[in-house]
Amino acid sequence: MIGIYLHIPFCKSKCSYCDFYSTASQSLVQPVVMAMLRETERRKNYFLLAKNSFSDAQQATLYVGGGTPSLLPPDMLNALAQKAMATFCAAPPVEFTVELNPDDVTPEYLLRLRGMGVNRVSIGVQSFFDDDLQRLNRRHTAQQAVSSVALAQKAGFGNISVDLMYGLPCMDTERWRSNLETVFSLGIQHLSAYALTIEERTPFGALLRKNRLLLPPESELAMQYDLLCAMSAKNGFVHYEISNFALNGFFSAHNAAYWQQQPYVGIGPAAHSYNGRQRQCNVASSAQYIKNMEEDKDFFEVENLSKENRYNEYVFTGLRTMWGINLSHLKQTFDKELINYLLANANKHIENENIAVNGDRLTIPEDRWFVADSIIVDLIWA
Ligand code: SF4
Repeated sequence: MIGIYLHIPFCKSKCSYCDFYSTASQSLVQPVVMAMLRETERRKNYFLLAKNSFSDAQQATLYVGGGTPSLLPPDMLNALAQKAMATFCAAPPVEFTVELNPDDVTPEYLLRLRGMGVNRVSIGVQSFFDDDLQRLNRRHTAQQAVSSVALAQKAGFGNISVDLMYGLPCMDTERWRSNLETVFSLGIQHLSAYALTIEERTPFGALLRKNRLLLPPESELAMQYDLLCAMSAKNGFVHYEISNFALNGFFSAHNAAYWQQQPYVGIGPAAHSYNGRQRQCNVASSAQYIKNMEEDKDFFEVENLSKENRYNEYVFTGLRTMWGINLSHLKQTFDKELINYLLANANKHIENENIAVNGDRLTIPEDRWFVADSIIVDLIWA
């Protein structure tokens, strides 16, 4: 499986918690799209160069994220997607996802998406309470969120993901329960639920520094997470990664490939690519990205991944999923020193039942996922 990611670095306004690269000015939309088409052309051999390492590179997923892809006029989105598919895919992508903001969703727009081959939409809802949405500086209402899911269903989408956030300012467990009841009543197939994290260089970061952000205590956060797990299970959703839940058959193929260290190419300002040996990070400035494309200059920084880096990534991402990490794969891929390090440090967690051994696999049981990072850190090569 190969992954193709298109990063659309524009938003109508910035949300209070967000530090993804995007700009509220849309003056550069057209030049960025032109530059992304150019980047796709320049990267046409990206997967060919990696083919010795990856045997089934003919299957692909395509994911358009951002930023706000649904801000892009459909013709531009279509041009980018068609170019990416013609360049990298031997067959139509097995999964083609576009992220949507609820207030951009119209029947006409959804039909255009269907027409270009999109078979999955991911809708950024975050909360079904208008006062939460206002605090987050989201630009849609709760009613628009509900309507956007219904419109997507009416347009024929049978694979719909919704993003929600818990641990929001002023959010108690009853409010979170209400959000979960609403989301599971909508007939969706996939849910991504993230705890709010406060990034320093955001409006929430500034409010926190001034002691003006009232966040739920850790104990409340743990209750909200437990409720998320319980209600997801009750509604038939499989908890397949710390923040991701899906009905059987609807796990995100694109994200699962990331977590399993499959190669991917990221097109656009601030996008990342990975080929198993190195990561490439595109310049996080639309103006600089356009200039570098126009002048045929380098547009990314390279991070060569040592075997320790690759071991750390495999352990970190794998243990956050229900599939865990595979000891045979580790033994085939890494030397004895790393394997002995892993086993020595995993032992105390196996004894404490923080880590389960299932044949060749080590997994963190779901009831410990809330503290997974504190377990994983012991296994990371420092
Ligand atoms: S719409 Fe998404 S990418 Fe844009 S500012 Fe909000 S959270 Fe960030």
